[in-house]
Amino acid sequence: MARAGKTYDVLIVGGGVIGLSLAWELSQHGAKVCVVDRGQLGMEASWAGAGMIPPGPAETHWNQSSPFEQLAGLSQRLQPEWHERLLELTGIDNEFRRSGAIHLALTPDEAKTLDQKAQRWRQLGIAHQKIDKTTLSDLEPALANQAPSFSRAYQLPAETRLRNPRHLHALLAACRLSGIELRAGVEVYKIEVSGNRFSQVVTNTGPIQAEKICLAAGSWSAQLLISLGIDLPVRPMRGQIVLLRGPTNLILRTINVGPRYLVSRLDGRILVGSTEDDVGFAKANTAAGVGGLMQFAQMIAPELAQLPIETCWSGFRPATADGFPYLGRLAKIENAWLATGHFRAGLQLSPATAVVMRAMMLGQEPPVDVTELGIDR
Ligand SMILES: Cc1cc2nc3c(=O)[nH]c(=O)nc-3n(C[C@H](O)[C@H](O)[C@H](O)COP(=O)(O)OP(=O)(O)OC[C@H]3O[C@@H](n4cnc5c(N)ncnc54)[C@H](O)[C@@H]3O)c2cc1C
Repeated sequence: MARAGKTYDVLIVGGGVIGLSLAWELSQHGAKVCVVDRGQLGMEASWAGAGMIPPGPAETHWNQSSPFEQLAGLSQRLQPEWHERLLELTGIDNEFRRSGAIHLALTPDEAKTLDQKAQRWRQLGIAHQKIDKTTLSDLEPALANQAPSFSRAYQLPAETRLRNPRHLHALLAACRLSGIELRAGVEVYKIEVSGNRFSQVVTNTGPIQAEKICLAAGSWSAQLLISLGIDLPVRPMRGQIVLLRGPTNLILRTINVGPRYLVSRLDGRILVGSTEDDVGFAKANTAAGVGGLMQFAQMIAPELAQLPIETCWSGFRPATADGFPYLGRLAKIENAWLATGHFRAGLQLSPATAVVMRAMMLGQEPPVDVTELGIDR
């Protein structure tokens, strides 16, 4: 049953990694928070992702970095701290580890794009090395046979990753221990405003009031804003993943080739990702998607073709027109906020998003100026 009255300081709509990280961060700063999710908390894009956390620039390079890059840099600093704090508080290891990554190019076009990426890493002071085929084979023996087919290879030693389903378990446990109210199966239909202030949301379980609201509904965020006459350009971009059951240490680092990758877990499981399917909210693994991913895996490391497929899944990345998230206050509504549209980087940017949004929502100076990421851009 919904509670009557302004029980909460902050209501967060959407219990993915963005909503839960913000809830935890706000509660650490004394706010009484409620998170509602129309389904199970943490079971949409944030569960479906691969958990890659690419490195960002250190603060010394922020004057030449975009807000997005600064968020990546801040997250790189916060991720290990959050891992430690979550582990200590909940006993759950989110498997955050510094694995390093390798970026490969097959075609001349991919090589050109990768060289441009490397130039940006150089400008931002992000450690990387161009490696030859012998070094690639030494670092990743499973790729040795195919090494001659790559026209370019870079190593990024500072890349990290986490096991996102475990990270969500840890966040949920931390939220519960911090007294945050987590309400699954509560779908927000409408956001109601009185004058220039958010007053309440209408849900399938009745109205909910709070002093402030933050919308963190991922790919569904645009639907929530229709009732306010706001046309937010956030749409779902389906990504498919195939999970292989591998032996431990077959693939050591995260292997990237353009938008495709191999990510291994500590227990040997290997994620082969991912597609970008502009198909609306059609959750499915397709023959073409799974086939293409397996072809990719086999081309990178032929041994992978012999591994059993454990399962496959898909999820909806919240995509925006310019590829950047929306972080900020809703125009003309002084107590309503938005944190969404993280596309391929929501797990990566979640701690920085939480810290920046918490600061803005509590009237504090955010560590990253995200004015450029506002809703009215
Ligand atoms: C295949 C794939 C691979 C990825 N890999 C990575 C990666 O390696 N690294 C990385 O950083 N990112 C990755 N991402 C992207 C990342 O997963 C997303 O950017 C991130 O999860 C977005 O988090 P979110 O909390 O905004 O959205 P979600 O996790 O989708 O959460 C939104 C929540 O809002 C709820 N909701 C929606 N509408 C309502 C409503 N009306 N009322 C109540 N609740 C509602 C939903 O039920 C959902 O639980 C990947 C994504 C996919 C799909």
